[in-house]
Amino acid sequence: MINIAVLGVSGRMGRCLVRAIRESEDLSLSGALASPESGSLGHDAGEVAQAGPVAIEVTSDRGRALANAAIAIDFTLPEATADNLAAVASRQIPIVIGTTGLDAERHALIRRVSEKLPVLVAPNMSLAVNLFFSLVGSAAAALPADYDIEIVDAHHRHKADAPSGTALRLGEIAAGARDTTLGNVGVYGRAGRATARSPGAIGFSSVRAGDIIGEHHVLFAGSGETLELVHRATDRMTFAYGALAAARWLRGRQPGLYGMSDVLGV
Ligand code: NAP
Repeated sequence: MINIAVLGVSGRMGRCLVRAIRESEDLSLSGALASPESGSLGHDAGEVAQAGPVAIEVTSDRGRALANAAIAIDFTLPEATADNLAAVASRQIPIVIGTTGLDAERHALIRRVSEKLPVLVAPNMSLAVNLFFSLVGSAAAALPADYDIEIVDAHHRHKADAPSGTALRLGEIAAGARDTTLGNVGVYGRAGRATARSPGAIGFSSVRAGDIIGEHHVLFAGSGETLELVHRATDRMTFAYGALAAARWLRGRQPGLYGMSDVLGV
């Protein structure tokens, strides 16, 4: 059995992870972290996930949550991810990070920790999205530069960050395929006058509504035709299964920074 600590256990993704661990034959939940303000503290993590009791109490104590873990999986908030990284680094526990909205400082922290530990970061853990990444890269490279690229993401009303981490990754890939960077060509939302497109821009729009799990549209719009590539997530369990596949893959690796493309070979 591989012991997994779920960091962010009481959240939408954390509860899916507990259910997916319960379904598996080779994984066991060894620790369950939530915030110090969480209404789930002291409760059985399996009950919180509506997966039946697992005899692991939800705690806000990182030492306790990580005590017996072979791997940690983080689906929290960027601030918590930074604290989680410090905690796994001092205990030499490899970590899978699904949290999005990480800024440059936190990415730098991840790179530093990955010099000593295996760390896998993925803004989207689904198999099809990782194939979607390579399709978008191919289309951006193959179509002429006057095919305008626009990226739209749609998520539920509670999502904290916009554009989504997946939308930003799609933009980075498209920009890279056109020999530039998102820093040079990204345009984030448009309103008011003087918002006409500049040549080569990659535009982002974000919808936040209801309980949409996650949709990404990438448009390549030329004169007289538009190619649209779309991915729709219909069940969060797809991300949970992906995160567990990442955890299995990461165990026993050399220190380094890995992504889902390493796990999936796409
Ligand atoms: P959520 O429902 O808001 O859950 C967040 C979790 O983090 C809760 O368990 C929360 O505990 C915990 N938390 C917050 N602050 C904390 C702290 N200081 N210390 C410890 N735990 C803390 O969010 P979600 O929808 O599960 O999403 C979590 C993250 O994963 C987001 O960044 C989201 O964009 C990302 N995500 C990634 C993927 C992917 O495939 N990579 C897929 C879906 C979502 P309490 O609420 O109980 O206090």
